[in-house]
Amino acid sequence: MTPQLNILDRMIELLPESLCRLIHNSGGRLTRELLLNPTVFGLPRRVDSHRPDAIVKSVCGYCSTGCNLSIHLKRGEAVSLSPDTDYPVNLGMACPKGWQALDVLDAADRATEPLFRPRKGGRLQPLEWHNALEVFCRRFKDIQQRHGSESVAFLGTGQIPTEELAFLGSLAKFGMGMRHGDGNTRQCMATSAVAHKESFGFDAPPFTYADFEESDVLIFIGANPCIAHPILWERVSRNRHHPEIIVIDPRLTETAMQATLHVPLKPKGDLILLYGLARELIQNGWIDREYIAAHTNGFQDFAAFVAAFTAEAVEAASGVNADLQKRLAEIIHNGQRVSFWWTMGVNQSHEGVRTAQAVINLALITGNIGRPGTGANSITGQCNAMGSRLFSNTTNLLGGRDFLDPAHRQTVADILNIPEANIPRQGSWAYNEIIEGIRSGAIRGLWIVATNTAHSWINQSDVRELLKSLDFLVVQDMYSSTETAELADLVLPAAGWGEKDGTFINSERRLGVLRSVKKAPGHALTDFRIFRLIAESWGCGDLFRDWTSPEAVFQKIKQLSAGQPCDITGITNYAMLDKFGGIQWPCTPEIAGELLPSIATPHTFENAPVSSLTYTSPFCPFQGEKVADPGAPGDEGVGREFKTAVHANANERRLFSDGQFFHADGRARFIFETPRPVTEPTDDEYPLTLLTGRGTASQWHTQTRTSKSAILRKLYPNDPYFEISPTDATTRGISDGDLVNVQSRRGCIRLRAVITPKVVAGQVFAPMHYPAVNQLTHPTFDPYSKQLSYKSCAVKVSAVPVGSNS
Ligand code: SF4
Repeated sequence: MTPQLNILDRMIELLPESLCRLIHNSGGRLTRELLLNPTVFGLPRRVDSHRPDAIVKSVCGYCSTGCNLSIHLKRGEAVSLSPDTDYPVNLGMACPKGWQALDVLDAADRATEPLFRPRKGGRLQPLEWHNALEVFCRRFKDIQQRHGSESVAFLGTGQIPTEELAFLGSLAKFGMGMRHGDGNTRQCMATSAVAHKESFGFDAPPFTYADFEESDVLIFIGANPCIAHPILWERVSRNRHHPEIIVIDPRLTETAMQATLHVPLKPKGDLILLYGLARELIQNGWIDREYIAAHTNGFQDFAAFVAAFTAEAVEAASGVNADLQKRLAEIIHNGQRVSFWWTMGVNQSHEGVRTAQAVINLALITGNIGRPGTGANSITGQCNAMGSRLFSNTTNLLGGRDFLDPAHRQTVADILNIPEANIPRQGSWAYNEIIEGIRSGAIRGLWIVATNTAHSWINQSDVRELLKSLDFLVVQDMYSSTETAELADLVLPAAGWGEKDGTFINSERRLGVLRSVKKAPGHALTDFRIFRLIAESWGCGDLFRDWTSPEAVFQKIKQLSAGQPCDITGITNYAMLDKFGGIQWPCTPEIAGELLPSIATPHTFENAPVSSLTYTSPFCPFQGEKVADPGAPGDEGVGREFKTAVHANANERRLFSDGQFFHADGRARFIFETPRPVTEPTDDEYPLTLLTGRGTASQWHTQTRTSKSAILRKLYPNDPYFEISPTDATTRGISDGDLVNVQSRRGCIRLRAVITPKVVAGQVFAPMHYPAVNQLTHPTFDPYSKQLSYKSCAVKVSAVPVGSNS
């Protein structure tokens, strides 16, 4: 028996194959089946009647992977799409959301005209745009006159292009006098951003996607790419180095099932485990002393700090036994190219920043950074979270600058040709502080753009009451039916992805272009156009006179990036981004001049089927089968060829290859802190830990879009459900499929039970996509990033009495 197999593993190993299949197939079909045979599931097929007149390429508008899609046009309108076979990100693949990206634009509940609620408790009524703009300005100005300009705030998103984000943040702060604005990236990536800044000196994810294929050891911490980033998992599947794939996660996730080693740990045992691993590596001398001496600061203090994290102490706190800790350290030591990957399991934590930095510390002490197949790599969530982090002008001044720094303010004022006095001298409140500002009465008016706070915010019942209490709430969105739009006093109808131009920045820092391929319905306008109209109505149009188009604003963004680590002044225009299959930042004129021409033929990839690989996990229903058969291109969607990226070329660039970080001394920093207990531990009354996360590859966040696709709806359970272990179900008299009360100190909701050993006794898991789940979550925040801790709160579950089980 190998040390990595715990009791649960042993139990599963003994189960008959049919039961293993059942366990694995807990809801909907697997991503891989969808990926290889999309038309079997009803995903788009190119038929003769839809043969396109033209094809326009556009980056997908859901997740941060940043796949490129070929949009097929007929008579100027999009009729279907297929994944772009020549784009270095997705290499001809897309997940179900990407395949169905066009369908959701035709939903019946699209916002097609402005809606106004003349009095609280009344109904939303249609009105003309010019009246909507007048109401918008009059009501917000009135609040500012009575309570100060800071009493109106905005909340943005990682779902709209960088150009629109820059316009929103600049209009709100430089034109309308707001100080406070934040975005929903606070809910996913704030932890990584702060961790990068403190450790590296700038918010700089160091990797390129080729690293998935270059590693011989990949360690996923709180990440489930099979579900959350399926195309990135495909890149892992193409790795030819027979890598060790380690998943550190409390649950036996879909990715853990595919791993060579699953490390189940107690919820929020990650920080202590990572410190214990550092101790083990240092104690055994399995570290790169030369790299540490040349490129880091603070190692001696770090080594002294982690010495206290003995194997016994770590086992007690994390549940990972000493043998398994040792095995993990050995695997890291034996790896030539070790990469560490994390997502929301780390970020959405009460100590997320220090946990992310504990991952970074492991990469630094072992010298696994800056080389192919290495890195401490944070995978982003939303399609433009990186654009939001750099250019939304919320908690950072444009271009990753600081509102508190007079020189930074002057630089931005000079570039934008605005008075420096228009730039706030203080930073913004973070999202949670804006919410608390509503409670205290400091925030009276709120403008929410393309995010669904009333669904996604933690302790949801509380935030809904707060939104209702605002003097004036404006929601600007594609859909008038979102939980947040239903609370609004004014709804501004916006165009969505596919109906606008701009750029997104993906997880590997790649800028890609999205294109308008459809007209927005009714009187909906692009967010860009709405911002221009508001600027004129507000009376600050002169400040934005030359913000005439997304591409004009892109030129300003380039100027704002000059001299920063995210410098993109070498990118000429959108056409250049198209030509090179997107371009990663940084791209200075020197990089553009020296490196990019070395791509002799942009978008050139070698055909290389990966059918030599097989599934090896005993839990996988396809065990022994080929990983991927490229098949023949044909009517199974366009471009079903699978290709392998040319590695290490000019368009697959990673940071820190020269060992130079962004701190003034060029060195990375070891940052660490004593772990803290979770804020709501389980107890006798609430004995179970609730974990939340993504449910399937066919659902996106609060489902404002994915629920509008009839095909996607077939690919996930429509009934809200939660997963519970056989042990906990049995002791509570719960059968599979029962409706069950799940209760925390903040609310009680009814969910259908899925009994599965994917979760261990003492834990339950609920997908975040269903509206009620955040009625349960506990409002805890990381003190440095202010990010929410969705991943652990105490709940109890109980069977619903007979007679009301419906
Ligand atoms: Fe690719 Fe993400 Fe779009 Fe799926 S949702 S097609 S993985 S970018």
